[in-house]
Order: sequence, then structure tokens, then C-alpha cells
Amino acid sequence: MSTSTVISTDPTTWDRTFRAEVARTREVVARLHAELPRWELVVWTAGNVSQRIRHASGDLLVIKPSGVTYDELTPEAMVVCDLEGTLVEGDRQPSSDTAAHAYTYAHMPEVGGVVHTHSTYATAWAARAEPVPCVLTMMADEFGGPIPIGPFALIGDDSIGQGIVATLGGGRSRAVLMQNHGPFTIGRDAKDAVKAAVMVEEVARTVHVSRQLGELVPIPQADVDALYERYQYVYGQGGASRAPLTAVAAPGSTSSTTSSSTDTTPEDAR
Ligand SMILES: [Zn+2]
Repeated sequence: MSTSTVISTDPTTWDRTFRAEVARTREVVARLHAELPRWELVVWTAGNVSQRIRHASGDLLVIKPSGVTYDELTPEAMVVCDLEGTLVEGDRQPSSDTAAHAYTYAHMPEVGGVVHTHSTYATAWAARAEPVPCVLTMMADEFGGPIPIGPFALIGDDSIGQGIVATLGGGRSRAVLMQNHGPFTIGRDAKDAVKAAVMVEEVARTVHVSRQLGELVPIPQADVDALYERYQYVYGQGGASRAPLTAVAAPGSTSSTTSSSTDTTPEDAR
């Protein structure tokens, strides 16, 4: 577990390299926030993106401030917090969802990005506390099965974070629909988590539309497994670097297979 120390949480002690990484992460997170309205996943000030910054003496996260419109989300407006959700650097209050993001990073060392929205179709399934069944090959590819429901939890303490970790830890899905609330997604970095947020809304919408027209046809588990394996290990760049994100979240495992260098790769370099 990451523990914050004064070495990393006091910005005046940051060396030039770490300071540059914080600045780069602010830019990435600010830019990725623009993807949420672009994909019609949010209204008004709802929704947030965060990315972890790894540090030997205690990881940090960058997230959007509370109650700021999407037009105002510049790199400078982003805030830096420790993994207890305490503000480390920034002029504004962190997003009210910061505790959920921080808890997820603290308990899932392989996670480098977290996204939360109230996107319409995914949230409609959350309102019924109904998992989205795996009836599309793209679901098997991306999520390796159904999109699970997380427990009902009130904002303000660790409850939401605990629900996210309990539901996604050790599983395949990179998205959880928190009951009566909406989707939280995880990724290797913030961009990966934004992609999962876009994809979960897409499959929630498609499966909803399909069910209006008739009975859903499940994909046999063996085929779900084969699709997931192929997509995670073979498709795209392939190799161990695309190993399933949550598969390394075995209890007691503290070693992360994600190197800090991949987390700081500029978004456009991929
Ligand atoms: Zn919310």
C-alpha cells in the first residue's frame, strides 16, 4: 500500500524531474476531461478523470477540481492529491469523488487511471442494479464478461472506493456500475480509463436497444474467454504489455507490472 510521506506531498521538496512529471500529468488529465463531453458522457460539471503519479515515497493523483465547468479545465486548474484524497497542490477544492479515486489507487497498485461519469445508458442499468450481460463480442474483448454492479454507497467516505475495489479486484472488467449512481472505470492510465468509460456507455446503450427488440442471446463462456484472451494478448501491440489490467491484482501482490515509464508516456505518443 502506498503511504504518503512529507517527501512527496510537500511540493517544495520535489525535484525537477518529479515536478515535470506532475506538470505533464496535469496536461494529460486536463486534455482528457475534454473527451467526456465530446463523447456525451457528462452534463454540467459531473464526471471526472484522474491519473496516478508514481513516487517511491508515496504516489499522488491528479484530478479535476470540484464544481468547475468543462470550459475552465486548464492544466493549471487541475489539483494534486495524495492517496488519502488530501490536497497537495492546487488552488481549488478537489472533486468530491476524489476519495473514491484515491482509495482505488491505494488498493489496486496496477491501476494508473480512474474515470467516473453518469453517462445515460450505463447509469440506467445502475439504476436497476442490473449487470449488463455479455452479449456482444466487443464486450468480451474489452471487459471479458458482463459489466458488474457495485454496491449502493454514499459519497463522502471510502464507501464508493471500497465498492469499486471489491467489485473489480481480481476480475476482468474495467468498469463497475455503482448501484443507483453510475459507472466508474479503471485503466493503465487515464486515457485507458477514458476509453473504458466510452466503451461501457456504448455497450450499455446497444444492449438496452437490443433488449427492446427481443431476447438477448448470450455468448458461450468458452467463446467469451477466447475473445478476451485474443484481444488482450494478441490484438494491437500485443505481448505481455497488454496483459489484463486486473489480473495482476491478486491479493497480497504488491509488485506492479506497470513501469512508471509507461505511465508517463505522452498520450499522443501511442
Ligand atoms: Zn457520481
